[in-house]
Amino acid sequence: MAGATQDFDAVVIGAGFSGIYMLKSLRDKLGLKVRVYEAGDSVGGTWYWNRYPGARCDSDSYIYCYTWDKQLLQEWEWSERYPEQPEILRYLEHVAQRHDLKRDMVFNTRVTGAEFDEASNLWNVHTDKGDTVTARYLIAAVGSLSETNMPPFKGLEKFKGKWYHTSRFPHTGVDFTAKRVGVVGTGATAVQAIPEIAQQAKQLVVFQRTANYCVPARNGKVDPELAKARKADYDGIVKRIRESFFGQEHYFIPKSALEVSREEREQELDKRWDAGGFAFWLANYQDMFFNQKANDVVADYLKRKIRKTVKDPAVAEKLTPKGYAYGTKRQPLDTNYFETFNKDNVVLVDAKTDGPIEEITEKGIRAGGKEYELDIIVFATGFDAMTGPLKALHLKGRGGRTLDEHWVDGPHTYLGISIAGFPNLFTITGPQSPSVLSNMPVSIEQHVDWITDCIENMRKSGKTTIEPTPQAQEQWVKHVNEIVNMTLMTGANSWYMSANIPGKPRAFLPYLGPEGVGGYRKKCDEVAAKGYEGFELA
Ligand SMILES: Cc1cc2nc3c(=O)[nH]c(=O)nc-3n(C[C@H](O)[C@H](O)[C@H](O)COP(=O)(O)OP(=O)(O)OC[C@H]3O[C@@H](n4cnc5c(N)ncnc54)[C@H](O)[C@@H]3O)c2cc1C
Repeated sequence: MAGATQDFDAVVIGAGFSGIYMLKSLRDKLGLKVRVYEAGDSVGGTWYWNRYPGARCDSDSYIYCYTWDKQLLQEWEWSERYPEQPEILRYLEHVAQRHDLKRDMVFNTRVTGAEFDEASNLWNVHTDKGDTVTARYLIAAVGSLSETNMPPFKGLEKFKGKWYHTSRFPHTGVDFTAKRVGVVGTGATAVQAIPEIAQQAKQLVVFQRTANYCVPARNGKVDPELAKARKADYDGIVKRIRESFFGQEHYFIPKSALEVSREEREQELDKRWDAGGFAFWLANYQDMFFNQKANDVVADYLKRKIRKTVKDPAVAEKLTPKGYAYGTKRQPLDTNYFETFNKDNVVLVDAKTDGPIEEITEKGIRAGGKEYELDIIVFATGFDAMTGPLKALHLKGRGGRTLDEHWVDGPHTYLGISIAGFPNLFTITGPQSPSVLSNMPVSIEQHVDWITDCIENMRKSGKTTIEPTPQAQEQWVKHVNEIVNMTLMTGANSWYMSANIPGKPRAFLPYLGPEGVGGYRKKCDEVAAKGYEGFELA
């Protein structure tokens, strides 16, 4: 129905790093009428929701920020190498304020469904407040890690104490003083939270399903001289991280871990261990992700560190990862994580050796036939990553087709930014884009810029719809899988492989391209330069 009235040019769902910049770009660059819906009561996304003790970013702060506001890059001073959640939230609030973005945002409002109307070529977007609005473009800025994974533990409703999920932590905080606390999970979030909770709690019981390889964060105040030097070099930094593999200033050692002497290897690994942060994971030997033997020697280094740190050999053994290659799960960065298990008030319950969680009882958690009495349970059980937040939108594309129908065996996207049969829908850091395998602000900015250019282009050329062809999409899916099948990533039961959620089709969710973030950017730019190759414009 040509000429149907529309409420907005674009609806953006989510007001985290992605939604904030998407609104800025479409409204202030293209002059579009935009509405942002956000389920939380303010901006921030990840940094609005995840308020557990110890919550902080693992990317270095000088690159965990926007690069589009050059003046802000100069003005903003991060206090630490990895700022805590309140500081990152303050930063995002500041950006929203500074660019007067909140006037186009509606908070406390969840998008509950949206369908593409093939007659008007508009999206009808529904919210939990009962509103329906129409828009030409629908942009999912819903995040990759925003759909909480709360496993259906038997008996949870019986528990007489208090329980929390780390991604829905109370804004007022939780006082663990003199309490018996259980933490369920030992992923990146738990690794941050456990040492903090152990300092307050009377007793802490950690329930571990899979032991994790951790490397030290080595957090600290930012050296003012270093901060100054970085500010002077921001143009260079931005260029380098955009062209890099992981959106960070980390580069593989251009050698095999097996071709060097043991002494040389130990020295290189020591350097990365001492530097702290993602260097150990992302700037390691180039064959570490591909060759099991190369991986084994690097993993052995980390296993020795665990055995050296944890005093009780039986506990050290339980904390030593087994059965998957190093680096194939999200790398947790730790501050006194393994040391925490030397404390008298900390107990480790390992699913494999002590027995898995059987049920939640009135008094606590029963695992391996033993009941652990608790006042508070903290579930650090992560997310239904990447596809979860998109499926929760209950989208209907052409012919009323849903993502559940479309993604029976895992995600199918073109470039991770678009889906065949869902015209004018864009997914920022969507599945099969580098997303969670990158320093995310870099990938977010790349997608927002690409989407903005695409919409500008469509408007100039008088096109009303854009959608990928099924052929281009299937080629992309094949490419994503071919690449990851060359690595060790597929052998791990990780959330990257969708393995943290029973029944979720096993599929690798992000894109690990041969040239990483830099190569992916080039590919997206080429697609645009060739008149949006692989897309149909009408
Ligand atoms: C604990 C933690 C630590 C992290 N550390 C790092 C790090 O060190 N480096 C890094 O690169 N990345 C990190 N990440 C990833 C992080 O999610 C991204 O860096 C970034 O914050 C994502 O921004 P976003 O706007 O895309 O998504 P989010 O920040 O997740 O925001 C999405 C927003 O969409 C809203 N939303 C979702 N669905 C709906 C709906 N249906 N209706 C209305 N609103 C909706 C949500 O409420 C949320 O506010 C971390 C993630 C977590 C959970």
